[in-house]
Amino acid sequence: MPTNATVVWQETDRRHHLHPFTDHKALGEKGVRIITRADGVYLWDSEGNSLLDGMAGLWCVNIGYGRPELAQVAARQLEELPYYNTFFQSATPPVIELSEMLAEVTPEGLNHVFFANSGSEANDTIAKMARFYWNLMGKPNKKTIISREYAYHGVTIAAASLSGLTPMHTSFDLPLPRFDHVAAPYWYKHGGDSSPDDFGIKAAKAVEDRILEIGADQVAAFIGEPIMGAGGAIFPPATYWGEIQRICREHDILLIVDEVICGFGRTGEWFGCDTFDIDPDFMTMAKGLSSGYMPISGLMVHDRIAEPIVNCGELVHGFTYSGHPVAAAVAMENVRILRDEKIVETVGNNTGPYLQARLRELANHRLVGEVRGIGMIAGIELVEDKASRKSYDPGRKVGQTCRDLCTDNGVVVRAVRDVIVLSPPLIISRDEIDILVDTIAQTLDETVKTLSL
Ligand code: PMP
Repeated sequence: MPTNATVVWQETDRRHHLHPFTDHKALGEKGVRIITRADGVYLWDSEGNSLLDGMAGLWCVNIGYGRPELAQVAARQLEELPYYNTFFQSATPPVIELSEMLAEVTPEGLNHVFFANSGSEANDTIAKMARFYWNLMGKPNKKTIISREYAYHGVTIAAASLSGLTPMHTSFDLPLPRFDHVAAPYWYKHGGDSSPDDFGIKAAKAVEDRILEIGADQVAAFIGEPIMGAGGAIFPPATYWGEIQRICREHDILLIVDEVICGFGRTGEWFGCDTFDIDPDFMTMAKGLSSGYMPISGLMVHDRIAEPIVNCGELVHGFTYSGHPVAAAVAMENVRILRDEKIVETVGNNTGPYLQARLRELANHRLVGEVRGIGMIAGIELVEDKASRKSYDPGRKVGQTCRDLCTDNGVVVRAVRDVIVLSPPLIISRDEIDILVDTIAQTLDETVKTLSL
């Protein structure tokens, strides 16, 4: 039986709280899980149960929970200057210093940053900036942005239009005109008999074919996550990004890389762009920028395209909280910790390869079709038939059942269709990785039994 406090919270939540991406009727019947505190890689719920957070919140708590330095920096900034805006020729020290720090840690040439509060707002801003850029360049017909099926770029009207997950469109009459989608580089599901490398080239070619179909003079930009996260931890074949970059340059199309998940160390390098050798015109960042301790996001603009934007007169866009000083101070402390404690290097050389090697042991399990991953991001694709890569009927809810059993066993993972997705805090230790992987292994067996597979 839940405690009285839990029951009261659940009842109040049911009465007043609308949750993101939630079936409220189902939640109301079950009662919400209430997380009350966290430390390192562990969460505790209102019933005192501990859970190893294999998702770092929502792919964001890169430095782990409970770092007092971030709380102290926030308290100091709240006392000194809790708010001032960056409109009207003003700025605050934290936002200026964070801008310089971001120019240093991001790839070469990304030297200007615009701040927002969420990944969605940052991508929405980029969709506007791409239009603005081509208007300034005297090419006002270049307006279409090409994205991909399975993409997740956020939920504002523009960001949801950029996203490629069908339910995000059908509920809201989206996408808006001039947001287009092509097939994703999802070899395991759509690669057929092609080798991953051949399929990578084919998937990039689909972008080029679409550009030619629409007309390069009508296309503003292509957007992609280096590794697709919310669409099911989809890893591009090694041939993909180089070819995408060649196509964008050749057709004079801006390349937008959404680093909201990959950024700040998740791949074992600072950015997915470093991992895949991408040289983008715009880069989106959020989540790991503050390790989720404060809402803050940003978009980096490459020198190549910053010049007209900087010299054009007024940029008629901005949020009250663009460059909020408390969020900026916290983000700076977070980046300092990532840098000074060599957390990204540890993921790259030590704990990332260890997690990946341990997860590969699951590949022999009869439910597991593919284990894919790098650094601290991974997907385990559960299938009915390994040889033909055939998925289970979605009605059997294999992924969801496995996820729920994992939670019962003390580990938080995510299920996207029948892909079990992992994205633990970057500071997870080898011992904690063992607990995470051993629990998943045990839960795969329980999933087989529970569903009589
Ligand atoms: N881009 C990517 C790649 C994301 O994964 C997300 C969120 N999961 C977003 C954008 C949107 O970020 P937010 O939820 O902060 O708006």
